[in-house]
Amino acid sequence: MKIAVPREIRAGETRVALDPESCKKLIQLGIEVAVEAGAGAAAQYPDEAYRAAGATLAPDAASLLDQADFVLKVNAPQERTDGTHEVDLIRPGAMLLASIFPTRHLEAVKRMAARPLTAFSTDCIPRTTRAQAMDTLSSQANLVGYKGVLLGAMELPKYFPMFMTAAGTTLPAKVFVIGAGVAGLQAIATAKRLGASVTATDVRPEVKEQIESVGGKYVGIDLKQGASAGGGYAAELSAEDKALQAKMLADHCAQVDVVITTALIGGVFAPKLLDETIVRSMKPGSVIVDLGADGGGNCTLSKLGETVDVGGVKILAPLNLPATLATHASMLFSRNLLNFMTAFWDRSAARFNLDWADDILKGCAVTHEGQVVHGPTQKALN
Ligand code: NAD
Repeated sequence: MKIAVPREIRAGETRVALDPESCKKLIQLGIEVAVEAGAGAAAQYPDEAYRAAGATLAPDAASLLDQADFVLKVNAPQERTDGTHEVDLIRPGAMLLASIFPTRHLEAVKRMAARPLTAFSTDCIPRTTRAQAMDTLSSQANLVGYKGVLLGAMELPKYFPMFMTAAGTTLPAKVFVIGAGVAGLQAIATAKRLGASVTATDVRPEVKEQIESVGGKYVGIDLKQGASAGGGYAAELSAEDKALQAKMLADHCAQVDVVITTALIGGVFAPKLLDETIVRSMKPGSVIVDLGADGGGNCTLSKLGETVDVGGVKILAPLNLPATLATHASMLFSRNLLNFMTAFWDRSAARFNLDWADDILKGCAVTHEGQVVHGPTQKALN
């Protein structure tokens, strides 16, 4: 079987789907790996490192993808600058593994089904213990939580830690994290490491203990219905619960220096939690880091990919933060893909085992034999 790793073409993307180390491990399994020249350069993985790992280098995406049985990518396939589409370069019948976010990329999904490709999306992998090692949502969200706090600290005109000096004492910055999933818990832990005083909230009540275990103080509300949708995902709040939460957020945001938002519904779309009234109630000089930006943003005033100033409150809405930590982001992403490939690789038959009885494989399949086979994506297309 031949695996191909093209250079990512999404604007601002610096990650690569496979680092040389994971490349080597796939080759040790008896798989051929070809990499597009320069694919790892922005993540500090030069072509020579892939050659040393045993991969072959292809000069361009067209010649690479035409030959592949299985394509590994970071992002959903997209249109190229020459007007062709990445999907149309991939050999019909080939398999694809990437973080596709299919419900955000319906046009690409339709093309993949029509080609036809058998495509798997790592962000749709069921949240089971066995799947944890393959879960790119978690590996990349960790990076987002960490970097989001650093960005907030850079913008805040105050120290994060408490300092007692001869010139006086500074109090620790107050950081409030909204949404305590993988990114939120990492944000709490990072802000604590920097010496801030951290509070956090979520709509899934079970996260209280997790917030406390990383050093945060839980700020809860008694929601009437709650919003656990199973599998660690949150559902949208009822109108009554939204009103209860909005009141709590308005009260608490006015007291803190930095608000970090990480809330997502179903792991994909960001609910609007901070409106203009809340933003204007915050202290001048305070900072909002909207880490829901990739899902559309948690703040109604966020400008995606930009920083805006609203009455002295800075609102950052950074996109694709893992790309700002490309070396580690790629390394961890690669491990996730390697673990997926290893789980379904039948070494004696030297083939990828399309085991449709397996909950992981079935759960993350997006297109197969000309059909869209992922439930939420089918729904979004109808
Ligand atoms: P996510 O990215 O879907 O959402 C981020 C957080 O936002 C969640 O905690 C969610 O409850 C919260 N949220 C949604 N609406 C909100 C609102 N209105 N107000 C406040 N918070 C809101 O979640 P995630 O980070 O991917 O993961 C959530 C959970 O799933 C975690 O506990 C994680 O450990 C678990 N998980 C398990 C696996 C696995 O076992 N394989 C993999 C990934 C995640």
